[in-house]
Amino acid sequence: MVKASGGQARIDTDLRRPAIDGGTPVRDQSRFLVFGQPDIGQPEIDAVTEVLRSRWIGTGPHCQAFEAEFAAYLGPRIGGAVAVNSATAALHLSLLALDIGPGDEVISTAMTFCATINVICHVGATPVLCDCDIATQCILPEQIEAKITPRTKAIIVVHMCGRPCEMEAIMAIADRRGIPVIEDCAHAIETRIGDRPVGTYGTYACYSFYATKNMTTAEGGMVVAQDAERLTRIRTLSLHGQSADAWKRYSNAGFKRYDVVEPGWKYNLTDIAAAMGRAQLPMVESRLTRRREIAEQYDAALAELPLVLPPVAAPDTRLAYHLYTVQVDEARAGISRNDLLVAMRAENIGVGVHYEAIHTLGYYQNLLGLRPEDLPNAAWIGEHTLSMPLSTVMSDDDVDDAITAIRGIIGWYAEPFRAGH
Ligand SMILES: *Cc1c(COP(=O)(O)O)cnc(C)c1O
Repeated sequence: MVKASGGQARIDTDLRRPAIDGGTPVRDQSRFLVFGQPDIGQPEIDAVTEVLRSRWIGTGPHCQAFEAEFAAYLGPRIGGAVAVNSATAALHLSLLALDIGPGDEVISTAMTFCATINVICHVGATPVLCDCDIATQCILPEQIEAKITPRTKAIIVVHMCGRPCEMEAIMAIADRRGIPVIEDCAHAIETRIGDRPVGTYGTYACYSFYATKNMTTAEGGMVVAQDAERLTRIRTLSLHGQSADAWKRYSNAGFKRYDVVEPGWKYNLTDIAAAMGRAQLPMVESRLTRRREIAEQYDAALAELPLVLPPVAAPDTRLAYHLYTVQVDEARAGISRNDLLVAMRAENIGVGVHYEAIHTLGYYQNLLGLRPEDLPNAAWIGEHTLSMPLSTVMSDDDVDDAITAIRGIIGWYAEPFRAGH
């Protein structure tokens, strides 16, 4: 519970009673700042409208063009792309295309969204979890190495929050053992190491265009590969296991027979979604600039608070600034992460948790028999992380409100501030 006794708080400029403690919220409830709002402008609306008017709304020319444009964005290392209806589908198809199944082990990280690990179970394989770095939240390469067995058939890495994993080290380990790497790039469209985009290291890379991601098609995803031939089976599996794309079957070229080569899935993207993605893609870079600006405003405004802020970017890397996460230690901040979540929402500021550690979630706790302390960094982050709102639809006033809210709350509850530091 939130302490109800903040009455003697002293902090020079930020002394305000939090809404959770009876004060006036930073924002009216009618102006609740929604977390992770997508940026959707006239170009997307026009593109979608045009597709609707055309009446070709399923998988078609926009999907094909979106694949080519997305691959081109990532540069010449990428041999091709297959558009699908989610990153979850992209990850699932990547494992299937690598022939991973029962009896196999897939190494991944305890600090990710559950979808990354669920797909390992979908193919009947066993997830083997590694801990993450406490600051960057990315998988620890030395743990990957330690957990490889003769049954290890793939490694899935996650570029958390848009920070690159240590790909040189990871690829060296994987290549030495001949194990394919899948990159979960759901946070990391724009992330680079030097001038090399992440997503160009692994056998496959998987992207998400979910509503809160850096670019969105409402729901959508993409699998890319350096070797275009590796995408043939992905494409077949993405649409019922049919050997040819359905839209070609009904094109002007006339009716073509098709074969089913294996039982596939229904993971194709619609042209409505692809048209939206094509309108979003050219804005990815300018929107990154705006999110970086917001992150820098948070860095400056939160620096003196007793919170752990995101680490600065490693030299020669470019972050995608998908999430801005702070770590909240009650002993220093005077308030727990969970209470801070409630307190921020009471100020009508939407915040998030990214993520509860996988091995602390019920199903995986039972499956893997791990205690939180077995992967301590991920468990710590899961208990102490809070994501501040970070979206290009935020105005400067929205950013100020989020800052005022968190400074006010921490200022009210944290002992150093109460003493007037
Ligand atoms: C969002 C997300 C996914 C799943 O993406 P969908 O497109 O919603 O399936 C997978 N991994 C990570 C790290 C994510 O953030």
